[in-house]
Amino acid sequence: MIYPIVKYGDPVLEKPAATVTVFDDELRKLVDDMFESMYAAHGVGLAAPQIGISKRIAVIDVTFKEDPKAKIVLINPEIVHTEGRLTSNEGCLSLPEFRENVTRPRKVTARGQDATGKEIEVTGEELLARALVHETDHLNGKLYISHISALKRDLIRRKVRKLMKQGEW
Ligand SMILES: [Zn+2]
Repeated sequence: MIYPIVKYGDPVLEKPAATVTVFDDELRKLVDDMFESMYAAHGVGLAAPQIGISKRIAVIDVTFKEDPKAKIVLINPEIVHTEGRLTSNEGCLSLPEFRENVTRPRKVTARGQDATGKEIEVTGEELLARALVHETDHLNGKLYISHISALKRDLIRRKVRKLMKQGEW
């Protein structure tokens, strides 16, 4: 099932998501649906609040279907190590049409669980590092625009408000 992507302005994106405690078939179906929804939206990462479900679940595939082994399911993730800094253009499915330069760690290690509840650790560099912190931020109710200047953030907010008024958001 393909879920519509929730856009910036919906409060579900700005509240911390709930810890997952039950690892059942329903959860695994949701994870499959999240991959499907992410690919349909042409994204490389998706957090459950972005489909209106306030649970600590994220899916990532920085190869966008090219390498099935690159598919990552991260449940209840925590960033346990970061290294270096890298500034690069970043976007978000919940803020379509906008992109900004964001400085993130160059290398990131996240710890969490997979869809069966098994403890896992994922280390990534560059784009994967960026996806790991971006998606973990989502689960903490944070969007990438919290990492840019207040001036740029206000500009985006104003544009979004205008689009909302026009019924185009
Ligand atoms: Zn995002």
